[in-house]
Amino acid sequence: MELLYRSTRGEKKAYTASEAVLQGLAKDGGLFVPDQIPSLQRPISEFAGLSYQETAYEVMKLFLTDYTEEELKYCISHAYDDKFDTKVIAPLVKKGNAYYLELFHGATIAFKDMALSILPYLMVTAAKKNNCSNEIVILTATSGDTGKAALAGFANVPGTKIIVFYPKGGVSPIQEKQMVTQKGDNTWVVGIHGNFDDAQTGVKALFNDKKLAEQMNQAGFQFSSANSINIGRLVPQVVYYVYSYAQLLASGEIQNGESINVTVPTGNFGNILAAYYAKQMGVPIHKLICASNDNKVLYDFFTTGCYDKNRDFILTTSPSMDILISSNLERLIYKIAGADANKDAALMNDLAQTGKYVITDEMKAQLADFYGNYATEEETANQIKKMYETYHYIMDTHTAVASCVYDKYVKDSGDNTKTVIASTASPYKFTRSVMNAIDPSYDEKGDFELVDELNKLSNVAIPKAIQEIRTAPVLHNRVCDKDQMKETVCDILGLNK
Ligand SMILES: *Cc1c(COP(=O)(O)O)cnc(C)c1O
Repeated sequence: MELLYRSTRGEKKAYTASEAVLQGLAKDGGLFVPDQIPSLQRPISEFAGLSYQETAYEVMKLFLTDYTEEELKYCISHAYDDKFDTKVIAPLVKKGNAYYLELFHGATIAFKDMALSILPYLMVTAAKKNNCSNEIVILTATSGDTGKAALAGFANVPGTKIIVFYPKGGVSPIQEKQMVTQKGDNTWVVGIHGNFDDAQTGVKALFNDKKLAEQMNQAGFQFSSANSINIGRLVPQVVYYVYSYAQLLASGEIQNGESINVTVPTGNFGNILAAYYAKQMGVPIHKLICASNDNKVLYDFFTTGCYDKNRDFILTTSPSMDILISSNLERLIYKIAGADANKDAALMNDLAQTGKYVITDEMKAQLADFYGNYATEEETANQIKKMYETYHYIMDTHTAVASCVYDKYVKDSGDNTKTVIASTASPYKFTRSVMNAIDPSYDEKGDFELVDELNKLSNVAIPKAIQEIRTAPVLHNRVCDKDQMKETVCDILGLNK
């Protein structure tokens, strides 16, 4: 049966999966959601023997129903190959009573690789299926990790161009170096004077600019999005929650049917939403623990039912979670509003007009699956130090936020259900913050000296992604004001401004 996708804001048209992948965002500004979340077609115990690639096929075919078996298997085998430094793709590492699901073994050593390795294939396939002859222009706002992962995924993919905007000064030095050294004639990287929300708001405005769309079409271009709002990002992320449950079963860590909890360091709400979808597909997940840093909009939302972005934007050591507008939350809002697009649109309108919205008690009652909490900067650093000293396991700052919030959850609830913690970046990506947490005297050293120190301390090999940028030349140096993003895009594409 074909699964169709609709906008959260009420546009009447239903879209096939490939159309939704190609378009990214709905025309009315809403997000595409499937008409229903499909159930796993085989008992979860049968997944225990499957490889990552096989699991990906079993899960993704249920969401992307208009892709043929051949197309989907082609996309999967080209995405999850030796770009990853381990055959299992997403290993589970047990430390204490938690299992760290390491999602950082791909090309850019952050979890964004899990979806962005496959998105270009899903998109190029979608273009062919829909007889689209325009060149696809990927427009992305990044708080650091998406940008590089998208650049790596789309670089030199025929029929595509990619333009990435990042907040100048708002990403780690290693993140910035990774982006500005990106090769590929079809790649552009632009720093903006503003924060991540400015970049994201600017990109959304470009997507909604009808005049620009017309001008692009005439020149043979069309936009699509590699941001986590694209269902082609969301669906591949469901896979590793199914996979991690199956791995726990296969290794005898849990019994068939036993519930687990999942803890996710959250920014745009994409990763944790994928875990929520996995739960709805039938994976025995009890609590979804949503971890925030000092930008704790989501914690406040889960505790009060009021989403309020009117607050200072705080730059933290976990920059990929420095977000005040968690775009993917809209999909959850739509769901708890009873798939009522009018209600969702009204709340999103409140958000646009006043910077906040309040959900009804009835809606709030449906958030029982979630637990929200946050870790301060000091708590995050202490967690890194504690995990290093106790287990000799060095984690990055984002994972440390999750690890710390997980400890708070256990303390709050007394719930000792076995827990998977999404480990979203390699410590090598945030070396300075990680090493400073272990010993502040490291701060005197240079970025790459710190890489060597981390190597000595952790005994984990320096990833290829880091080795490469040590000597790679800077290829991108464009910077613009936050209100000049349109001019910049027109300039890059050779359109009249
Ligand atoms: C993007 C990112 C996150 C946040 O994930 P969302 O899906 O946006 O909630 C957390 N940690 C790291 C390292 C990331 O790159």
